[in-house]
Amino acid sequence: MHLRSLELSGFKSFANSTTLTFPSRITAIVGPNGSGKSNIAEAIRWVLGEQSMKALRGKKGEDLIWNGSPASRAGRPSIPRMGKASVTLRFDNTEGNIALDFEEVAIARKIFRDGINEYFLNDSQVRLRDIVELIARLGLGETKHNIIGQGEVDWMLLASPLERRDILEEALGLRVYQLKKNETERTLNATEDNLRQAEALLR
Ligand code: ATP
Repeated sequence: MHLRSLELSGFKSFANSTTLTFPSRITAIVGPNGSGKSNIAEAIRWVLGEQSMKALRGKKGEDLIWNGSPASRAGRPSIPRMGKASVTLRFDNTEGNIALDFEEVAIARKIFRDGINEYFLNDSQVRLRDIVELIARLGLGETKHNIIGQGEVDWMLLASPLERRDILEEALGLRVYQLKKNETERTLNATEDNLRQAEALLR
């Protein structure tokens, strides 16, 4: 499975729409401290459904949206803060590795200043759950993805056995089964409630 491009607009330090393409097998992003390299990794995490603001180095959703910049003395004009941020990740699906009938699969996420998030799959609005399930399914077999952030190697080495189990299960693509199990447990609980109510009515 091949990642074609990443489009950022209004996300963190990317005020202007920016498209990064990944034509080769290895891509390195190089830049001085604070130039936004980690913001790119976070954009990928975010569009794939990340819900933890801590993992995105923010406190609230608004922190992900371009916050405006004053005009610089060198003559660069000010860029006003933006009302929304969006990120789109495009995968080449000509080989059909993703079980969707499209040659290109685009996963997108938007956030507005009031904290509302929207998720899209090839321009159709979907639920977060659909994105999470799709990603979890992609996690199976050889196509798993891993994002190892700064300091995470330390964290993995120092993790408790329970945390380490989470890391391994995620890498093995078992999350989709965990999600299904949780969902089924919820349905079973609801059915039990219904049964109890029906019995009470019968009595
Ligand atoms: P380092 O190498 O030091 O880790 P980096 O190249 O990875 O740095 P990032 O940490 O990704 O850089 O980028 C941080 C920059 O992003 C900071 O300059 C910060 O001001 C800017 N930034 C973060 N959020 C916003 C936002 N909402 N609006 C504008 N700029 C932002």
